[in-house]
Amino acid sequence: MTQILNGKEVSESIIASLTEKIKTMSVQPGLAVILVGDNPASQVYVGSKKRTCEKMGMASFEYLLPASTTENELITVITTLNNDPKVHGILLQLPLPKGLDSDKMLGLISAKKDVDGFHPESVGKLLQGLPTFKSCTPFGVMEILKYYGISPEGKHVVIIGRSNIVGKPLAAMMITESATVTICHSKTKNLSDICKQADILCAAIGRPNFVTADMIKPGAVVIDVGINRIEDPTTEKGYKIVGDVDYAQVAPIASAITPVPGGIGPMTIAMLMANTVFSAEHA
Ligand code: NAD
Repeated sequence: MTQILNGKEVSESIIASLTEKIKTMSVQPGLAVILVGDNPASQVYVGSKKRTCEKMGMASFEYLLPASTTENELITVITTLNNDPKVHGILLQLPLPKGLDSDKMLGLISAKKDVDGFHPESVGKLLQGLPTFKSCTPFGVMEILKYYGISPEGKHVVIIGRSNIVGKPLAAMMITESATVTICHSKTKNLSDICKQADILCAAIGRPNFVTADMIKPGAVVIDVGINRIEDPTTEKGYKIVGDVDYAQVAPIASAITPVPGGIGPMTIAMLMANTVFSAEHA
């Protein structure tokens, strides 16, 4: 029987225990979210983060800025939040509109409030295996594995995707947990053969149903980070969300698998909240 790694259930249990912890804290953790422009997907993510904060008893500060925001205006907002003691975490929602340099802006967020784990200081510490804010999506992957008692130690972990927000930090976290890690990307040769060697296969590509049954070793654990919107006229909205893994084909071969939706997506928000609570505790 394939085990379904239920991210919705795990994230709810993490959020419930953080909510209890917040009740005992002398400071109220505060998360500030900056959204520049009117990207509809970003608006959905920001709304969901705000609702989760409020449900947990955390303070939520929202900065909805027009797409015409200049670099100096954005710097002023970031600097104000860096200096605000009520704010323990600052999240700059990506992507930014053209003309604003994401790397530069992320680098201006105080490393002490970098709850997204994107600041070069956080990334450097992560690589060194030092305590730091961990990028929320890969952190969510590690936590869901831990919840289900799946240890990466000594396993061959294959990660498809080398982005700064998923693939690379996930590789660092897996190495710290004593996995043997292979990172694949768009230029990798013999991708299928490499994937087939994986004890734990993590897909973070952004291509619907890319990972097929012939790429899976029987009994492998499959983690699907992908979130892809595909047309589906049978649904009310006319589309549905699928992962990077062809779930119907792969699930019967895997020993465990994350579904999409309801897998790594909800874990990402839970880990953002965990990082913010951690920041408030250590402020
Ligand atoms: P990205 O576009 O920055 O990186 C994609 C990676 O996939 C690249 O490293 C690229 O080399 C690799 N790739 C592309 N085509 C490939 C191919 N044919 N063969 C092998 N590798 C290939 O994407 P990202 O930001 O890392 O996101 C990846 C996916 O994860 C997307 O679907 C995104 O929506 C999703 N995502 C989900 C969450 C979450 O909360 N669950 C968070 C972040 C990203």
